[in-house]
Amino acid sequence: MNYHSRSPAELRDIRDDLRLKYRDLLAAGLTLDITRGKPAPEQLDLSNELLHLPGDDFRAPGGTDCRNYGGVNGLPELREVFAPLFGIAPENLIAEGNSSLDLMHDLTVFGLLHGPLGADRPWSAGPIKFLCPVPGYDRHFAITESYGIEMIPVPMRPDGPDVEVCAELVARDPSIKGMWLVPTYSNPSGATVSDEVARALLSMPAADDFRIYWDNAYAVHTLVDAPPEPLRVVEMAAEAGHPDRVYAFGSTSKISFAGAGVAFFGASPANLDWFRRYLSVKTIGPDKVNQLRHLRFFPDTESVRAHMARHRAILAPKFQAVLDILDDRLAGSKIASWTRPEGGYFISIDVLDGTAARTVALAKDAGIALTAAGATFPYRRDPNDENIRIAPSFPGVDELRIAMDGFATCALLAATESMLGYEA
Ligand code: PMP
Repeated sequence: MNYHSRSPAELRDIRDDLRLKYRDLLAAGLTLDITRGKPAPEQLDLSNELLHLPGDDFRAPGGTDCRNYGGVNGLPELREVFAPLFGIAPENLIAEGNSSLDLMHDLTVFGLLHGPLGADRPWSAGPIKFLCPVPGYDRHFAITESYGIEMIPVPMRPDGPDVEVCAELVARDPSIKGMWLVPTYSNPSGATVSDEVARALLSMPAADDFRIYWDNAYAVHTLVDAPPEPLRVVEMAAEAGHPDRVYAFGSTSKISFAGAGVAFFGASPANLDWFRRYLSVKTIGPDKVNQLRHLRFFPDTESVRAHMARHRAILAPKFQAVLDILDDRLAGSKIASWTRPEGGYFISIDVLDGTAARTVALAKDAGIALTAAGATFPYRRDPNDENIRIAPSFPGVDELRIAMDGFATCALLAATESMLGYEA
C-alpha cells in the first residue's frame, strides 16, 4: 500500500478512513507519555538493595572513611569496577557526583571562563562553535545554546558522524572548539561509532583546544548478545597525537537509579589535572557514601554486566512491541523509516518530510505525548520537519502498544493530508 503510488482519489479514501480512526482515538481519551527516556519503575526496582546500603560499615576497602570529606577522584575501587566498561584505564577515570550532564556542563563553563588546555585564551573571549551530530540529544544542545555557543549540525551515520564533513569544517574554522557525541547506541538514532570513524575524528587537524565530548551514556545498555567492545578512546587520542582532544563521560543513571547514581569522567592526565584545578574550587569531594553503596552493590565489572542483562529482559519486549507496530502499520505506506537499535533508550523515526510537527500535534490532541518535533536538532530546528524520537522504556508494554498504534494513525493521517495539499 505504497502511498506514493496511489492516485489522489485513492489517497482521499485512505485519508477519510484515517480520519475516522483518528476520531475514535480522540474519543478514547488517552493519557500516554512516550517523551523522555526514563527507566520504568520495574527497572529501578532492580537496584532497590541500594536503598539499604552501605549499612553501618562506612569504610571503603582501602580504609577510607566515606563519611568524611576528601578524595576528589572518587573511590579507586569503584573506578576499577567501571573503567573496563568505558574502555578507560582506572587512573584516567574519576568518579564524581550524581550526573554526567553536570560534568559536561562544568567542563564547558570552565572552558569558557579559563580556556581548556592548549587554548591561548578562554573560549568566551570570542565567538565559538560546536559540531552537533544530528539527530542528537536535546540536553547537549541546551548547554551550548544557553552559553551562546553556535551549533553546527553534522549528519550522524550508522557508524558515527560524517567524518569528511567534520574534518572539512574544523580544518577551515579554528573557532570550532567542540563536538557533542554519543558513541554507543546514540541518543536517538542508536548508532555506534566505529573504530575507524573514532580514529579519524581523533586525528583530523583541528584547533589545539578542540574537544570531543564522548558521552558514553549507553556504554553497557545493550539489547543483543554481542555488544560492541568499548573503544579505548583516551588511549586512541594519545595514539592519534592529540591526547587532550577527548572528554569521556558515563554514569550509572540508567544502570542503578536515574539521577541518584554515580557519574564518571575520563580524560588524559593533563586534562584531569586541569579539571581538578577548577573542580576542587567548587567541591571538597564527591558523595563517597553513595559511591560506597554502589561499590557494595556492584563489587566487580561482571556484576554490572549481569545487572544490565536484567534491564535488557525488561526493555527488549518494549522495543520489540514498538518495532512490531511500526512494521505492521507503517511499513507498507513507505511514508516513514525508523531505526532498529541494538541498545540504548530510543527509536528514531523519520516521518514524511514536513509532517513531524503535525504528527506530534495530532498525537497530543489525542492524549499521546511525544517528544517535541525538532527537539533532536540544535535550536529545535529540524530542516526537514521529519524526525521524531520515541522513548519506549517507561510505559508498560500494553500502554506502549496503544500509544504506538495511535502514533501510527497520526503519522499516516499527517502524511495523507500533506500529500493531498491539506485539502478539506
Ligand atoms: N547523556 C545522554 C546521551 C543521555 O541520554 C542522558 C540521559 N537521558 C544523559 C547524558 C544524562 O545522564 P546523567 O543522568 O548522568 O546526567
